[in-house]
Amino acid sequence: MTPYNTLIDSHAHIYGPEFKDDFADMLKRAEEAGVGEIIVVGTDVATSRAACELATRHENLYCAVGIHPHDAATVTEKCYEDIRHMVNSCTKVVAIGEIGLDFYRDRSPRHLQEEVFRRFIRLAREVSLPVIIHDRDAHDRVMAIVMEEDAGAVGGVFHCFSGDLQMASRCIDLGFHISIPGTVTYPSNENLRQVVQGTKIEKMLVETDCPYLTPVPHRGKRNEPAYVSITAAG
Ligand SMILES: [Zn+2]
Ligand SMILES: [Zn+2]
Repeated sequence: MTPYNTLIDSHAHIYGPEFKDDFADMLKRAEEAGVGEIIVVGTDVATSRAACELATRHENLYCAVGIHPHDAATVTEKCYEDIRHMVNSCTKVVAIGEIGLDFYRDRSPRHLQEEVFRRFIRLAREVSLPVIIHDRDAHDRVMAIVMEEDAGAVGGVFHCFSGDLQMASRCIDLGFHISIPGTVTYPSNENLRQVVQGTKIEKMLVETDCPYLTPVPHRGKRNEPAYVSITAAG
């Protein structure tokens, strides 16, 4: 049983080589820091499968399966089938993600990012799972697609939320949560702190997005789930 007041790291990429040497210790530190559960999020077919495998092996881990917009150009019909198969065969899958649009790095052509994002929202609705949305420099298109595909029917979370307070209210009105990463501790991130101050706590989640986005005072080092307590405290 998870105690009532534990934290959940809603977004972690802990299947990579960064955690290979101290995986068990890392989980232990998370538990000691009050992190009761961790959602391991896939970014492509291979890492989604790895997330399922970890969640199957560890009671406190859950997983999300999906394909990141960076990889949209590589998505084939087989990828959708593979992800659907994971949903049907792994009981620890709690969401479809991460999916979305990244117009900051533009690693895949935008029209393909949009098509893949739509397809995964449709899959999420079909299997009745919430979505984990990645939105970087693409607020307008993400919101348009979320509306057009009626993603609010399943809801979910805007991870690493980077919009303003007005956008946060729109997301919440549509049935979504917003998730706050460790960057909220960065001195320059006044915008995100304003969003947090103006948003009801029950509509917010915290996340590490580890190994990235390490909060102060550990900034510059590898991030890990235990540090989500710093974000929550901040
Ligand atoms: Zn992301
Ligand atoms: Zn991520």
